[in-house]
Amino acid sequence: MHLIPTQEEVVAVLRETGALRTGHFEYPNGLHSDGYLQVPLALRYYQHQRMLSVGLSRLLRGNPELRAVAAEVSIVAPATGGLPVAFGVCEALRAKQVYWAEREHDAEPLRFRQYLEPRPGEQVIMVDDILRTGSQLAELKTLLESRGATVVGLAVIVYQPAPDTVSFGSLPFYYLTKLDASYYADAEHCELCQRGVPLEKVWV
Ligand SMILES: [Zn+2]
Repeated sequence: MHLIPTQEEVVAVLRETGALRTGHFEYPNGLHSDGYLQVPLALRYYQHQRMLSVGLSRLLRGNPELRAVAAEVSIVAPATGGLPVAFGVCEALRAKQVYWAEREHDAEPLRFRQYLEPRPGEQVIMVDDILRTGSQLAELKTLLESRGATVVGLAVIVYQPAPDTVSFGSLPFYYLTKLDASYYADAEHCELCQRGVPLEKVWV
């Protein structure tokens, strides 16, 4: 295994742990897809969590501006699901701290736990296991900036763009692997539905 795992090595780990599945899935937003990813299934094994986090931190270190501020940077996840990666990246980068956002109910905005607030001027690298639509990370960025923090980077294990993936503009963005899935707007437009492939509903 290299210090930065290749796309093939990451995919092999995801498949071997059941984190990456091929089939016919319906997402909560109504999209149908031929692929499903649950990166936490791979992250439950410490050696995989470590290998993936160290790889990601090496990509971040490759950016001289991020390397220069690494010791002062906060690693922030948009939800608790990103914490295994956030702690792994923090350790490997020797960054300052890790914290996360959460929401009480689906309809509520993201928030930080009491006393878990960025300081004005704090530099933040946002980290998560996966970027699909990016809506949660975009909300996190807005929340951080509203408290005076500056987001200086974004890093995820898997980038799986969807038709409605948001753009983070010029923000430095790193990922270990990019996986394409076929998305269909709904059952009516879905090739797999038309072929009668059994459908599995997924809730995250
Ligand atoms: Zn379908």
